[in-house]
Amino acid sequence: MTGIALTIAGSDSGGGAGIQADLKTFSALGVYGASVVTAVTAQNTRAVTAIAALPPQMVRAQIGAVLDDLSVGAIKIGMLGGPEIIRSVAEALAPYQIPLVLDPVMVAKSGDRLLEAEAVCALRDHLLPLATVLTPNLPEAAELLQLPCAADIAARLEQGRALQAMGPQWVLMKGGHAEGAICSDLLLGAEAAVFTAPRIATRNTHGTGCTLSAAIAAGLAQGLETGAAVSQAHCYLQKAIAAADGLGVGSGHGPVHH
Ligand code: PLP
Repeated sequence: MTGIALTIAGSDSGGGAGIQADLKTFSALGVYGASVVTAVTAQNTRAVTAIAALPPQMVRAQIGAVLDDLSVGAIKIGMLGGPEIIRSVAEALAPYQIPLVLDPVMVAKSGDRLLEAEAVCALRDHLLPLATVLTPNLPEAAELLQLPCAADIAARLEQGRALQAMGPQWVLMKGGHAEGAICSDLLLGAEAAVFTAPRIATRNTHGTGCTLSAAIAAGLAQGLETGAAVSQAHCYLQKAIAAADGLGVGSGHGPVHH
């Protein structure tokens, strides 16, 4: 039977991130994708020009409709749009025991903010405790913890452990925002692992966080253990970034190639 993954995220009209990136990732990895839209962004590779969040009851109705009928093997959560939607999603998911990959999306690659600072507390309090895997980049980890951005590996390890203490079973501290020729992502949980890759020189990295978290959810929906799902997702993302310049979409931060 085909694995089914659900993404709960925002729509990117430019097709590079959000729901669109998630569904492309699910398909590429051979998983059937369902989607719950939380917010609609008017966006291209250069900027986000408008955001409209959906009414929380509509988000909840979509989650109910999907989970009532489809055998969802894993869920990925991305952009949420605001504190009421965060609470609705947490309430709607609480009765289910479905592996959950939480990408704490806060800022788009263009630099535009996708979650107001006040909603970060709601994310921390209501969704971190439900997460199987939390996938923050370094600025997101710092904002969740209200600390400065981790400057070295020891600080990343410490922040990852502090986030794990807030409820997620696993934390993947993504190192792409740090300087250096090698990017390392640190997985902390029942075991610890480091996933490294040479930094690829490209400005076309729009949707990388979305793609990675969706690929982890795809692996979990296929029945992989967390470490194996993260490893598969890391490989998938490296290939997608390496092929990004060949796509030539847009004049800003273009998307990766699925
Ligand atoms: N979700 C939506 C709807 C977005 O528009 C974006 C970025 O523009 C993101 C998530 C996060 O994107 P990234 O994967 O580049 O961090």
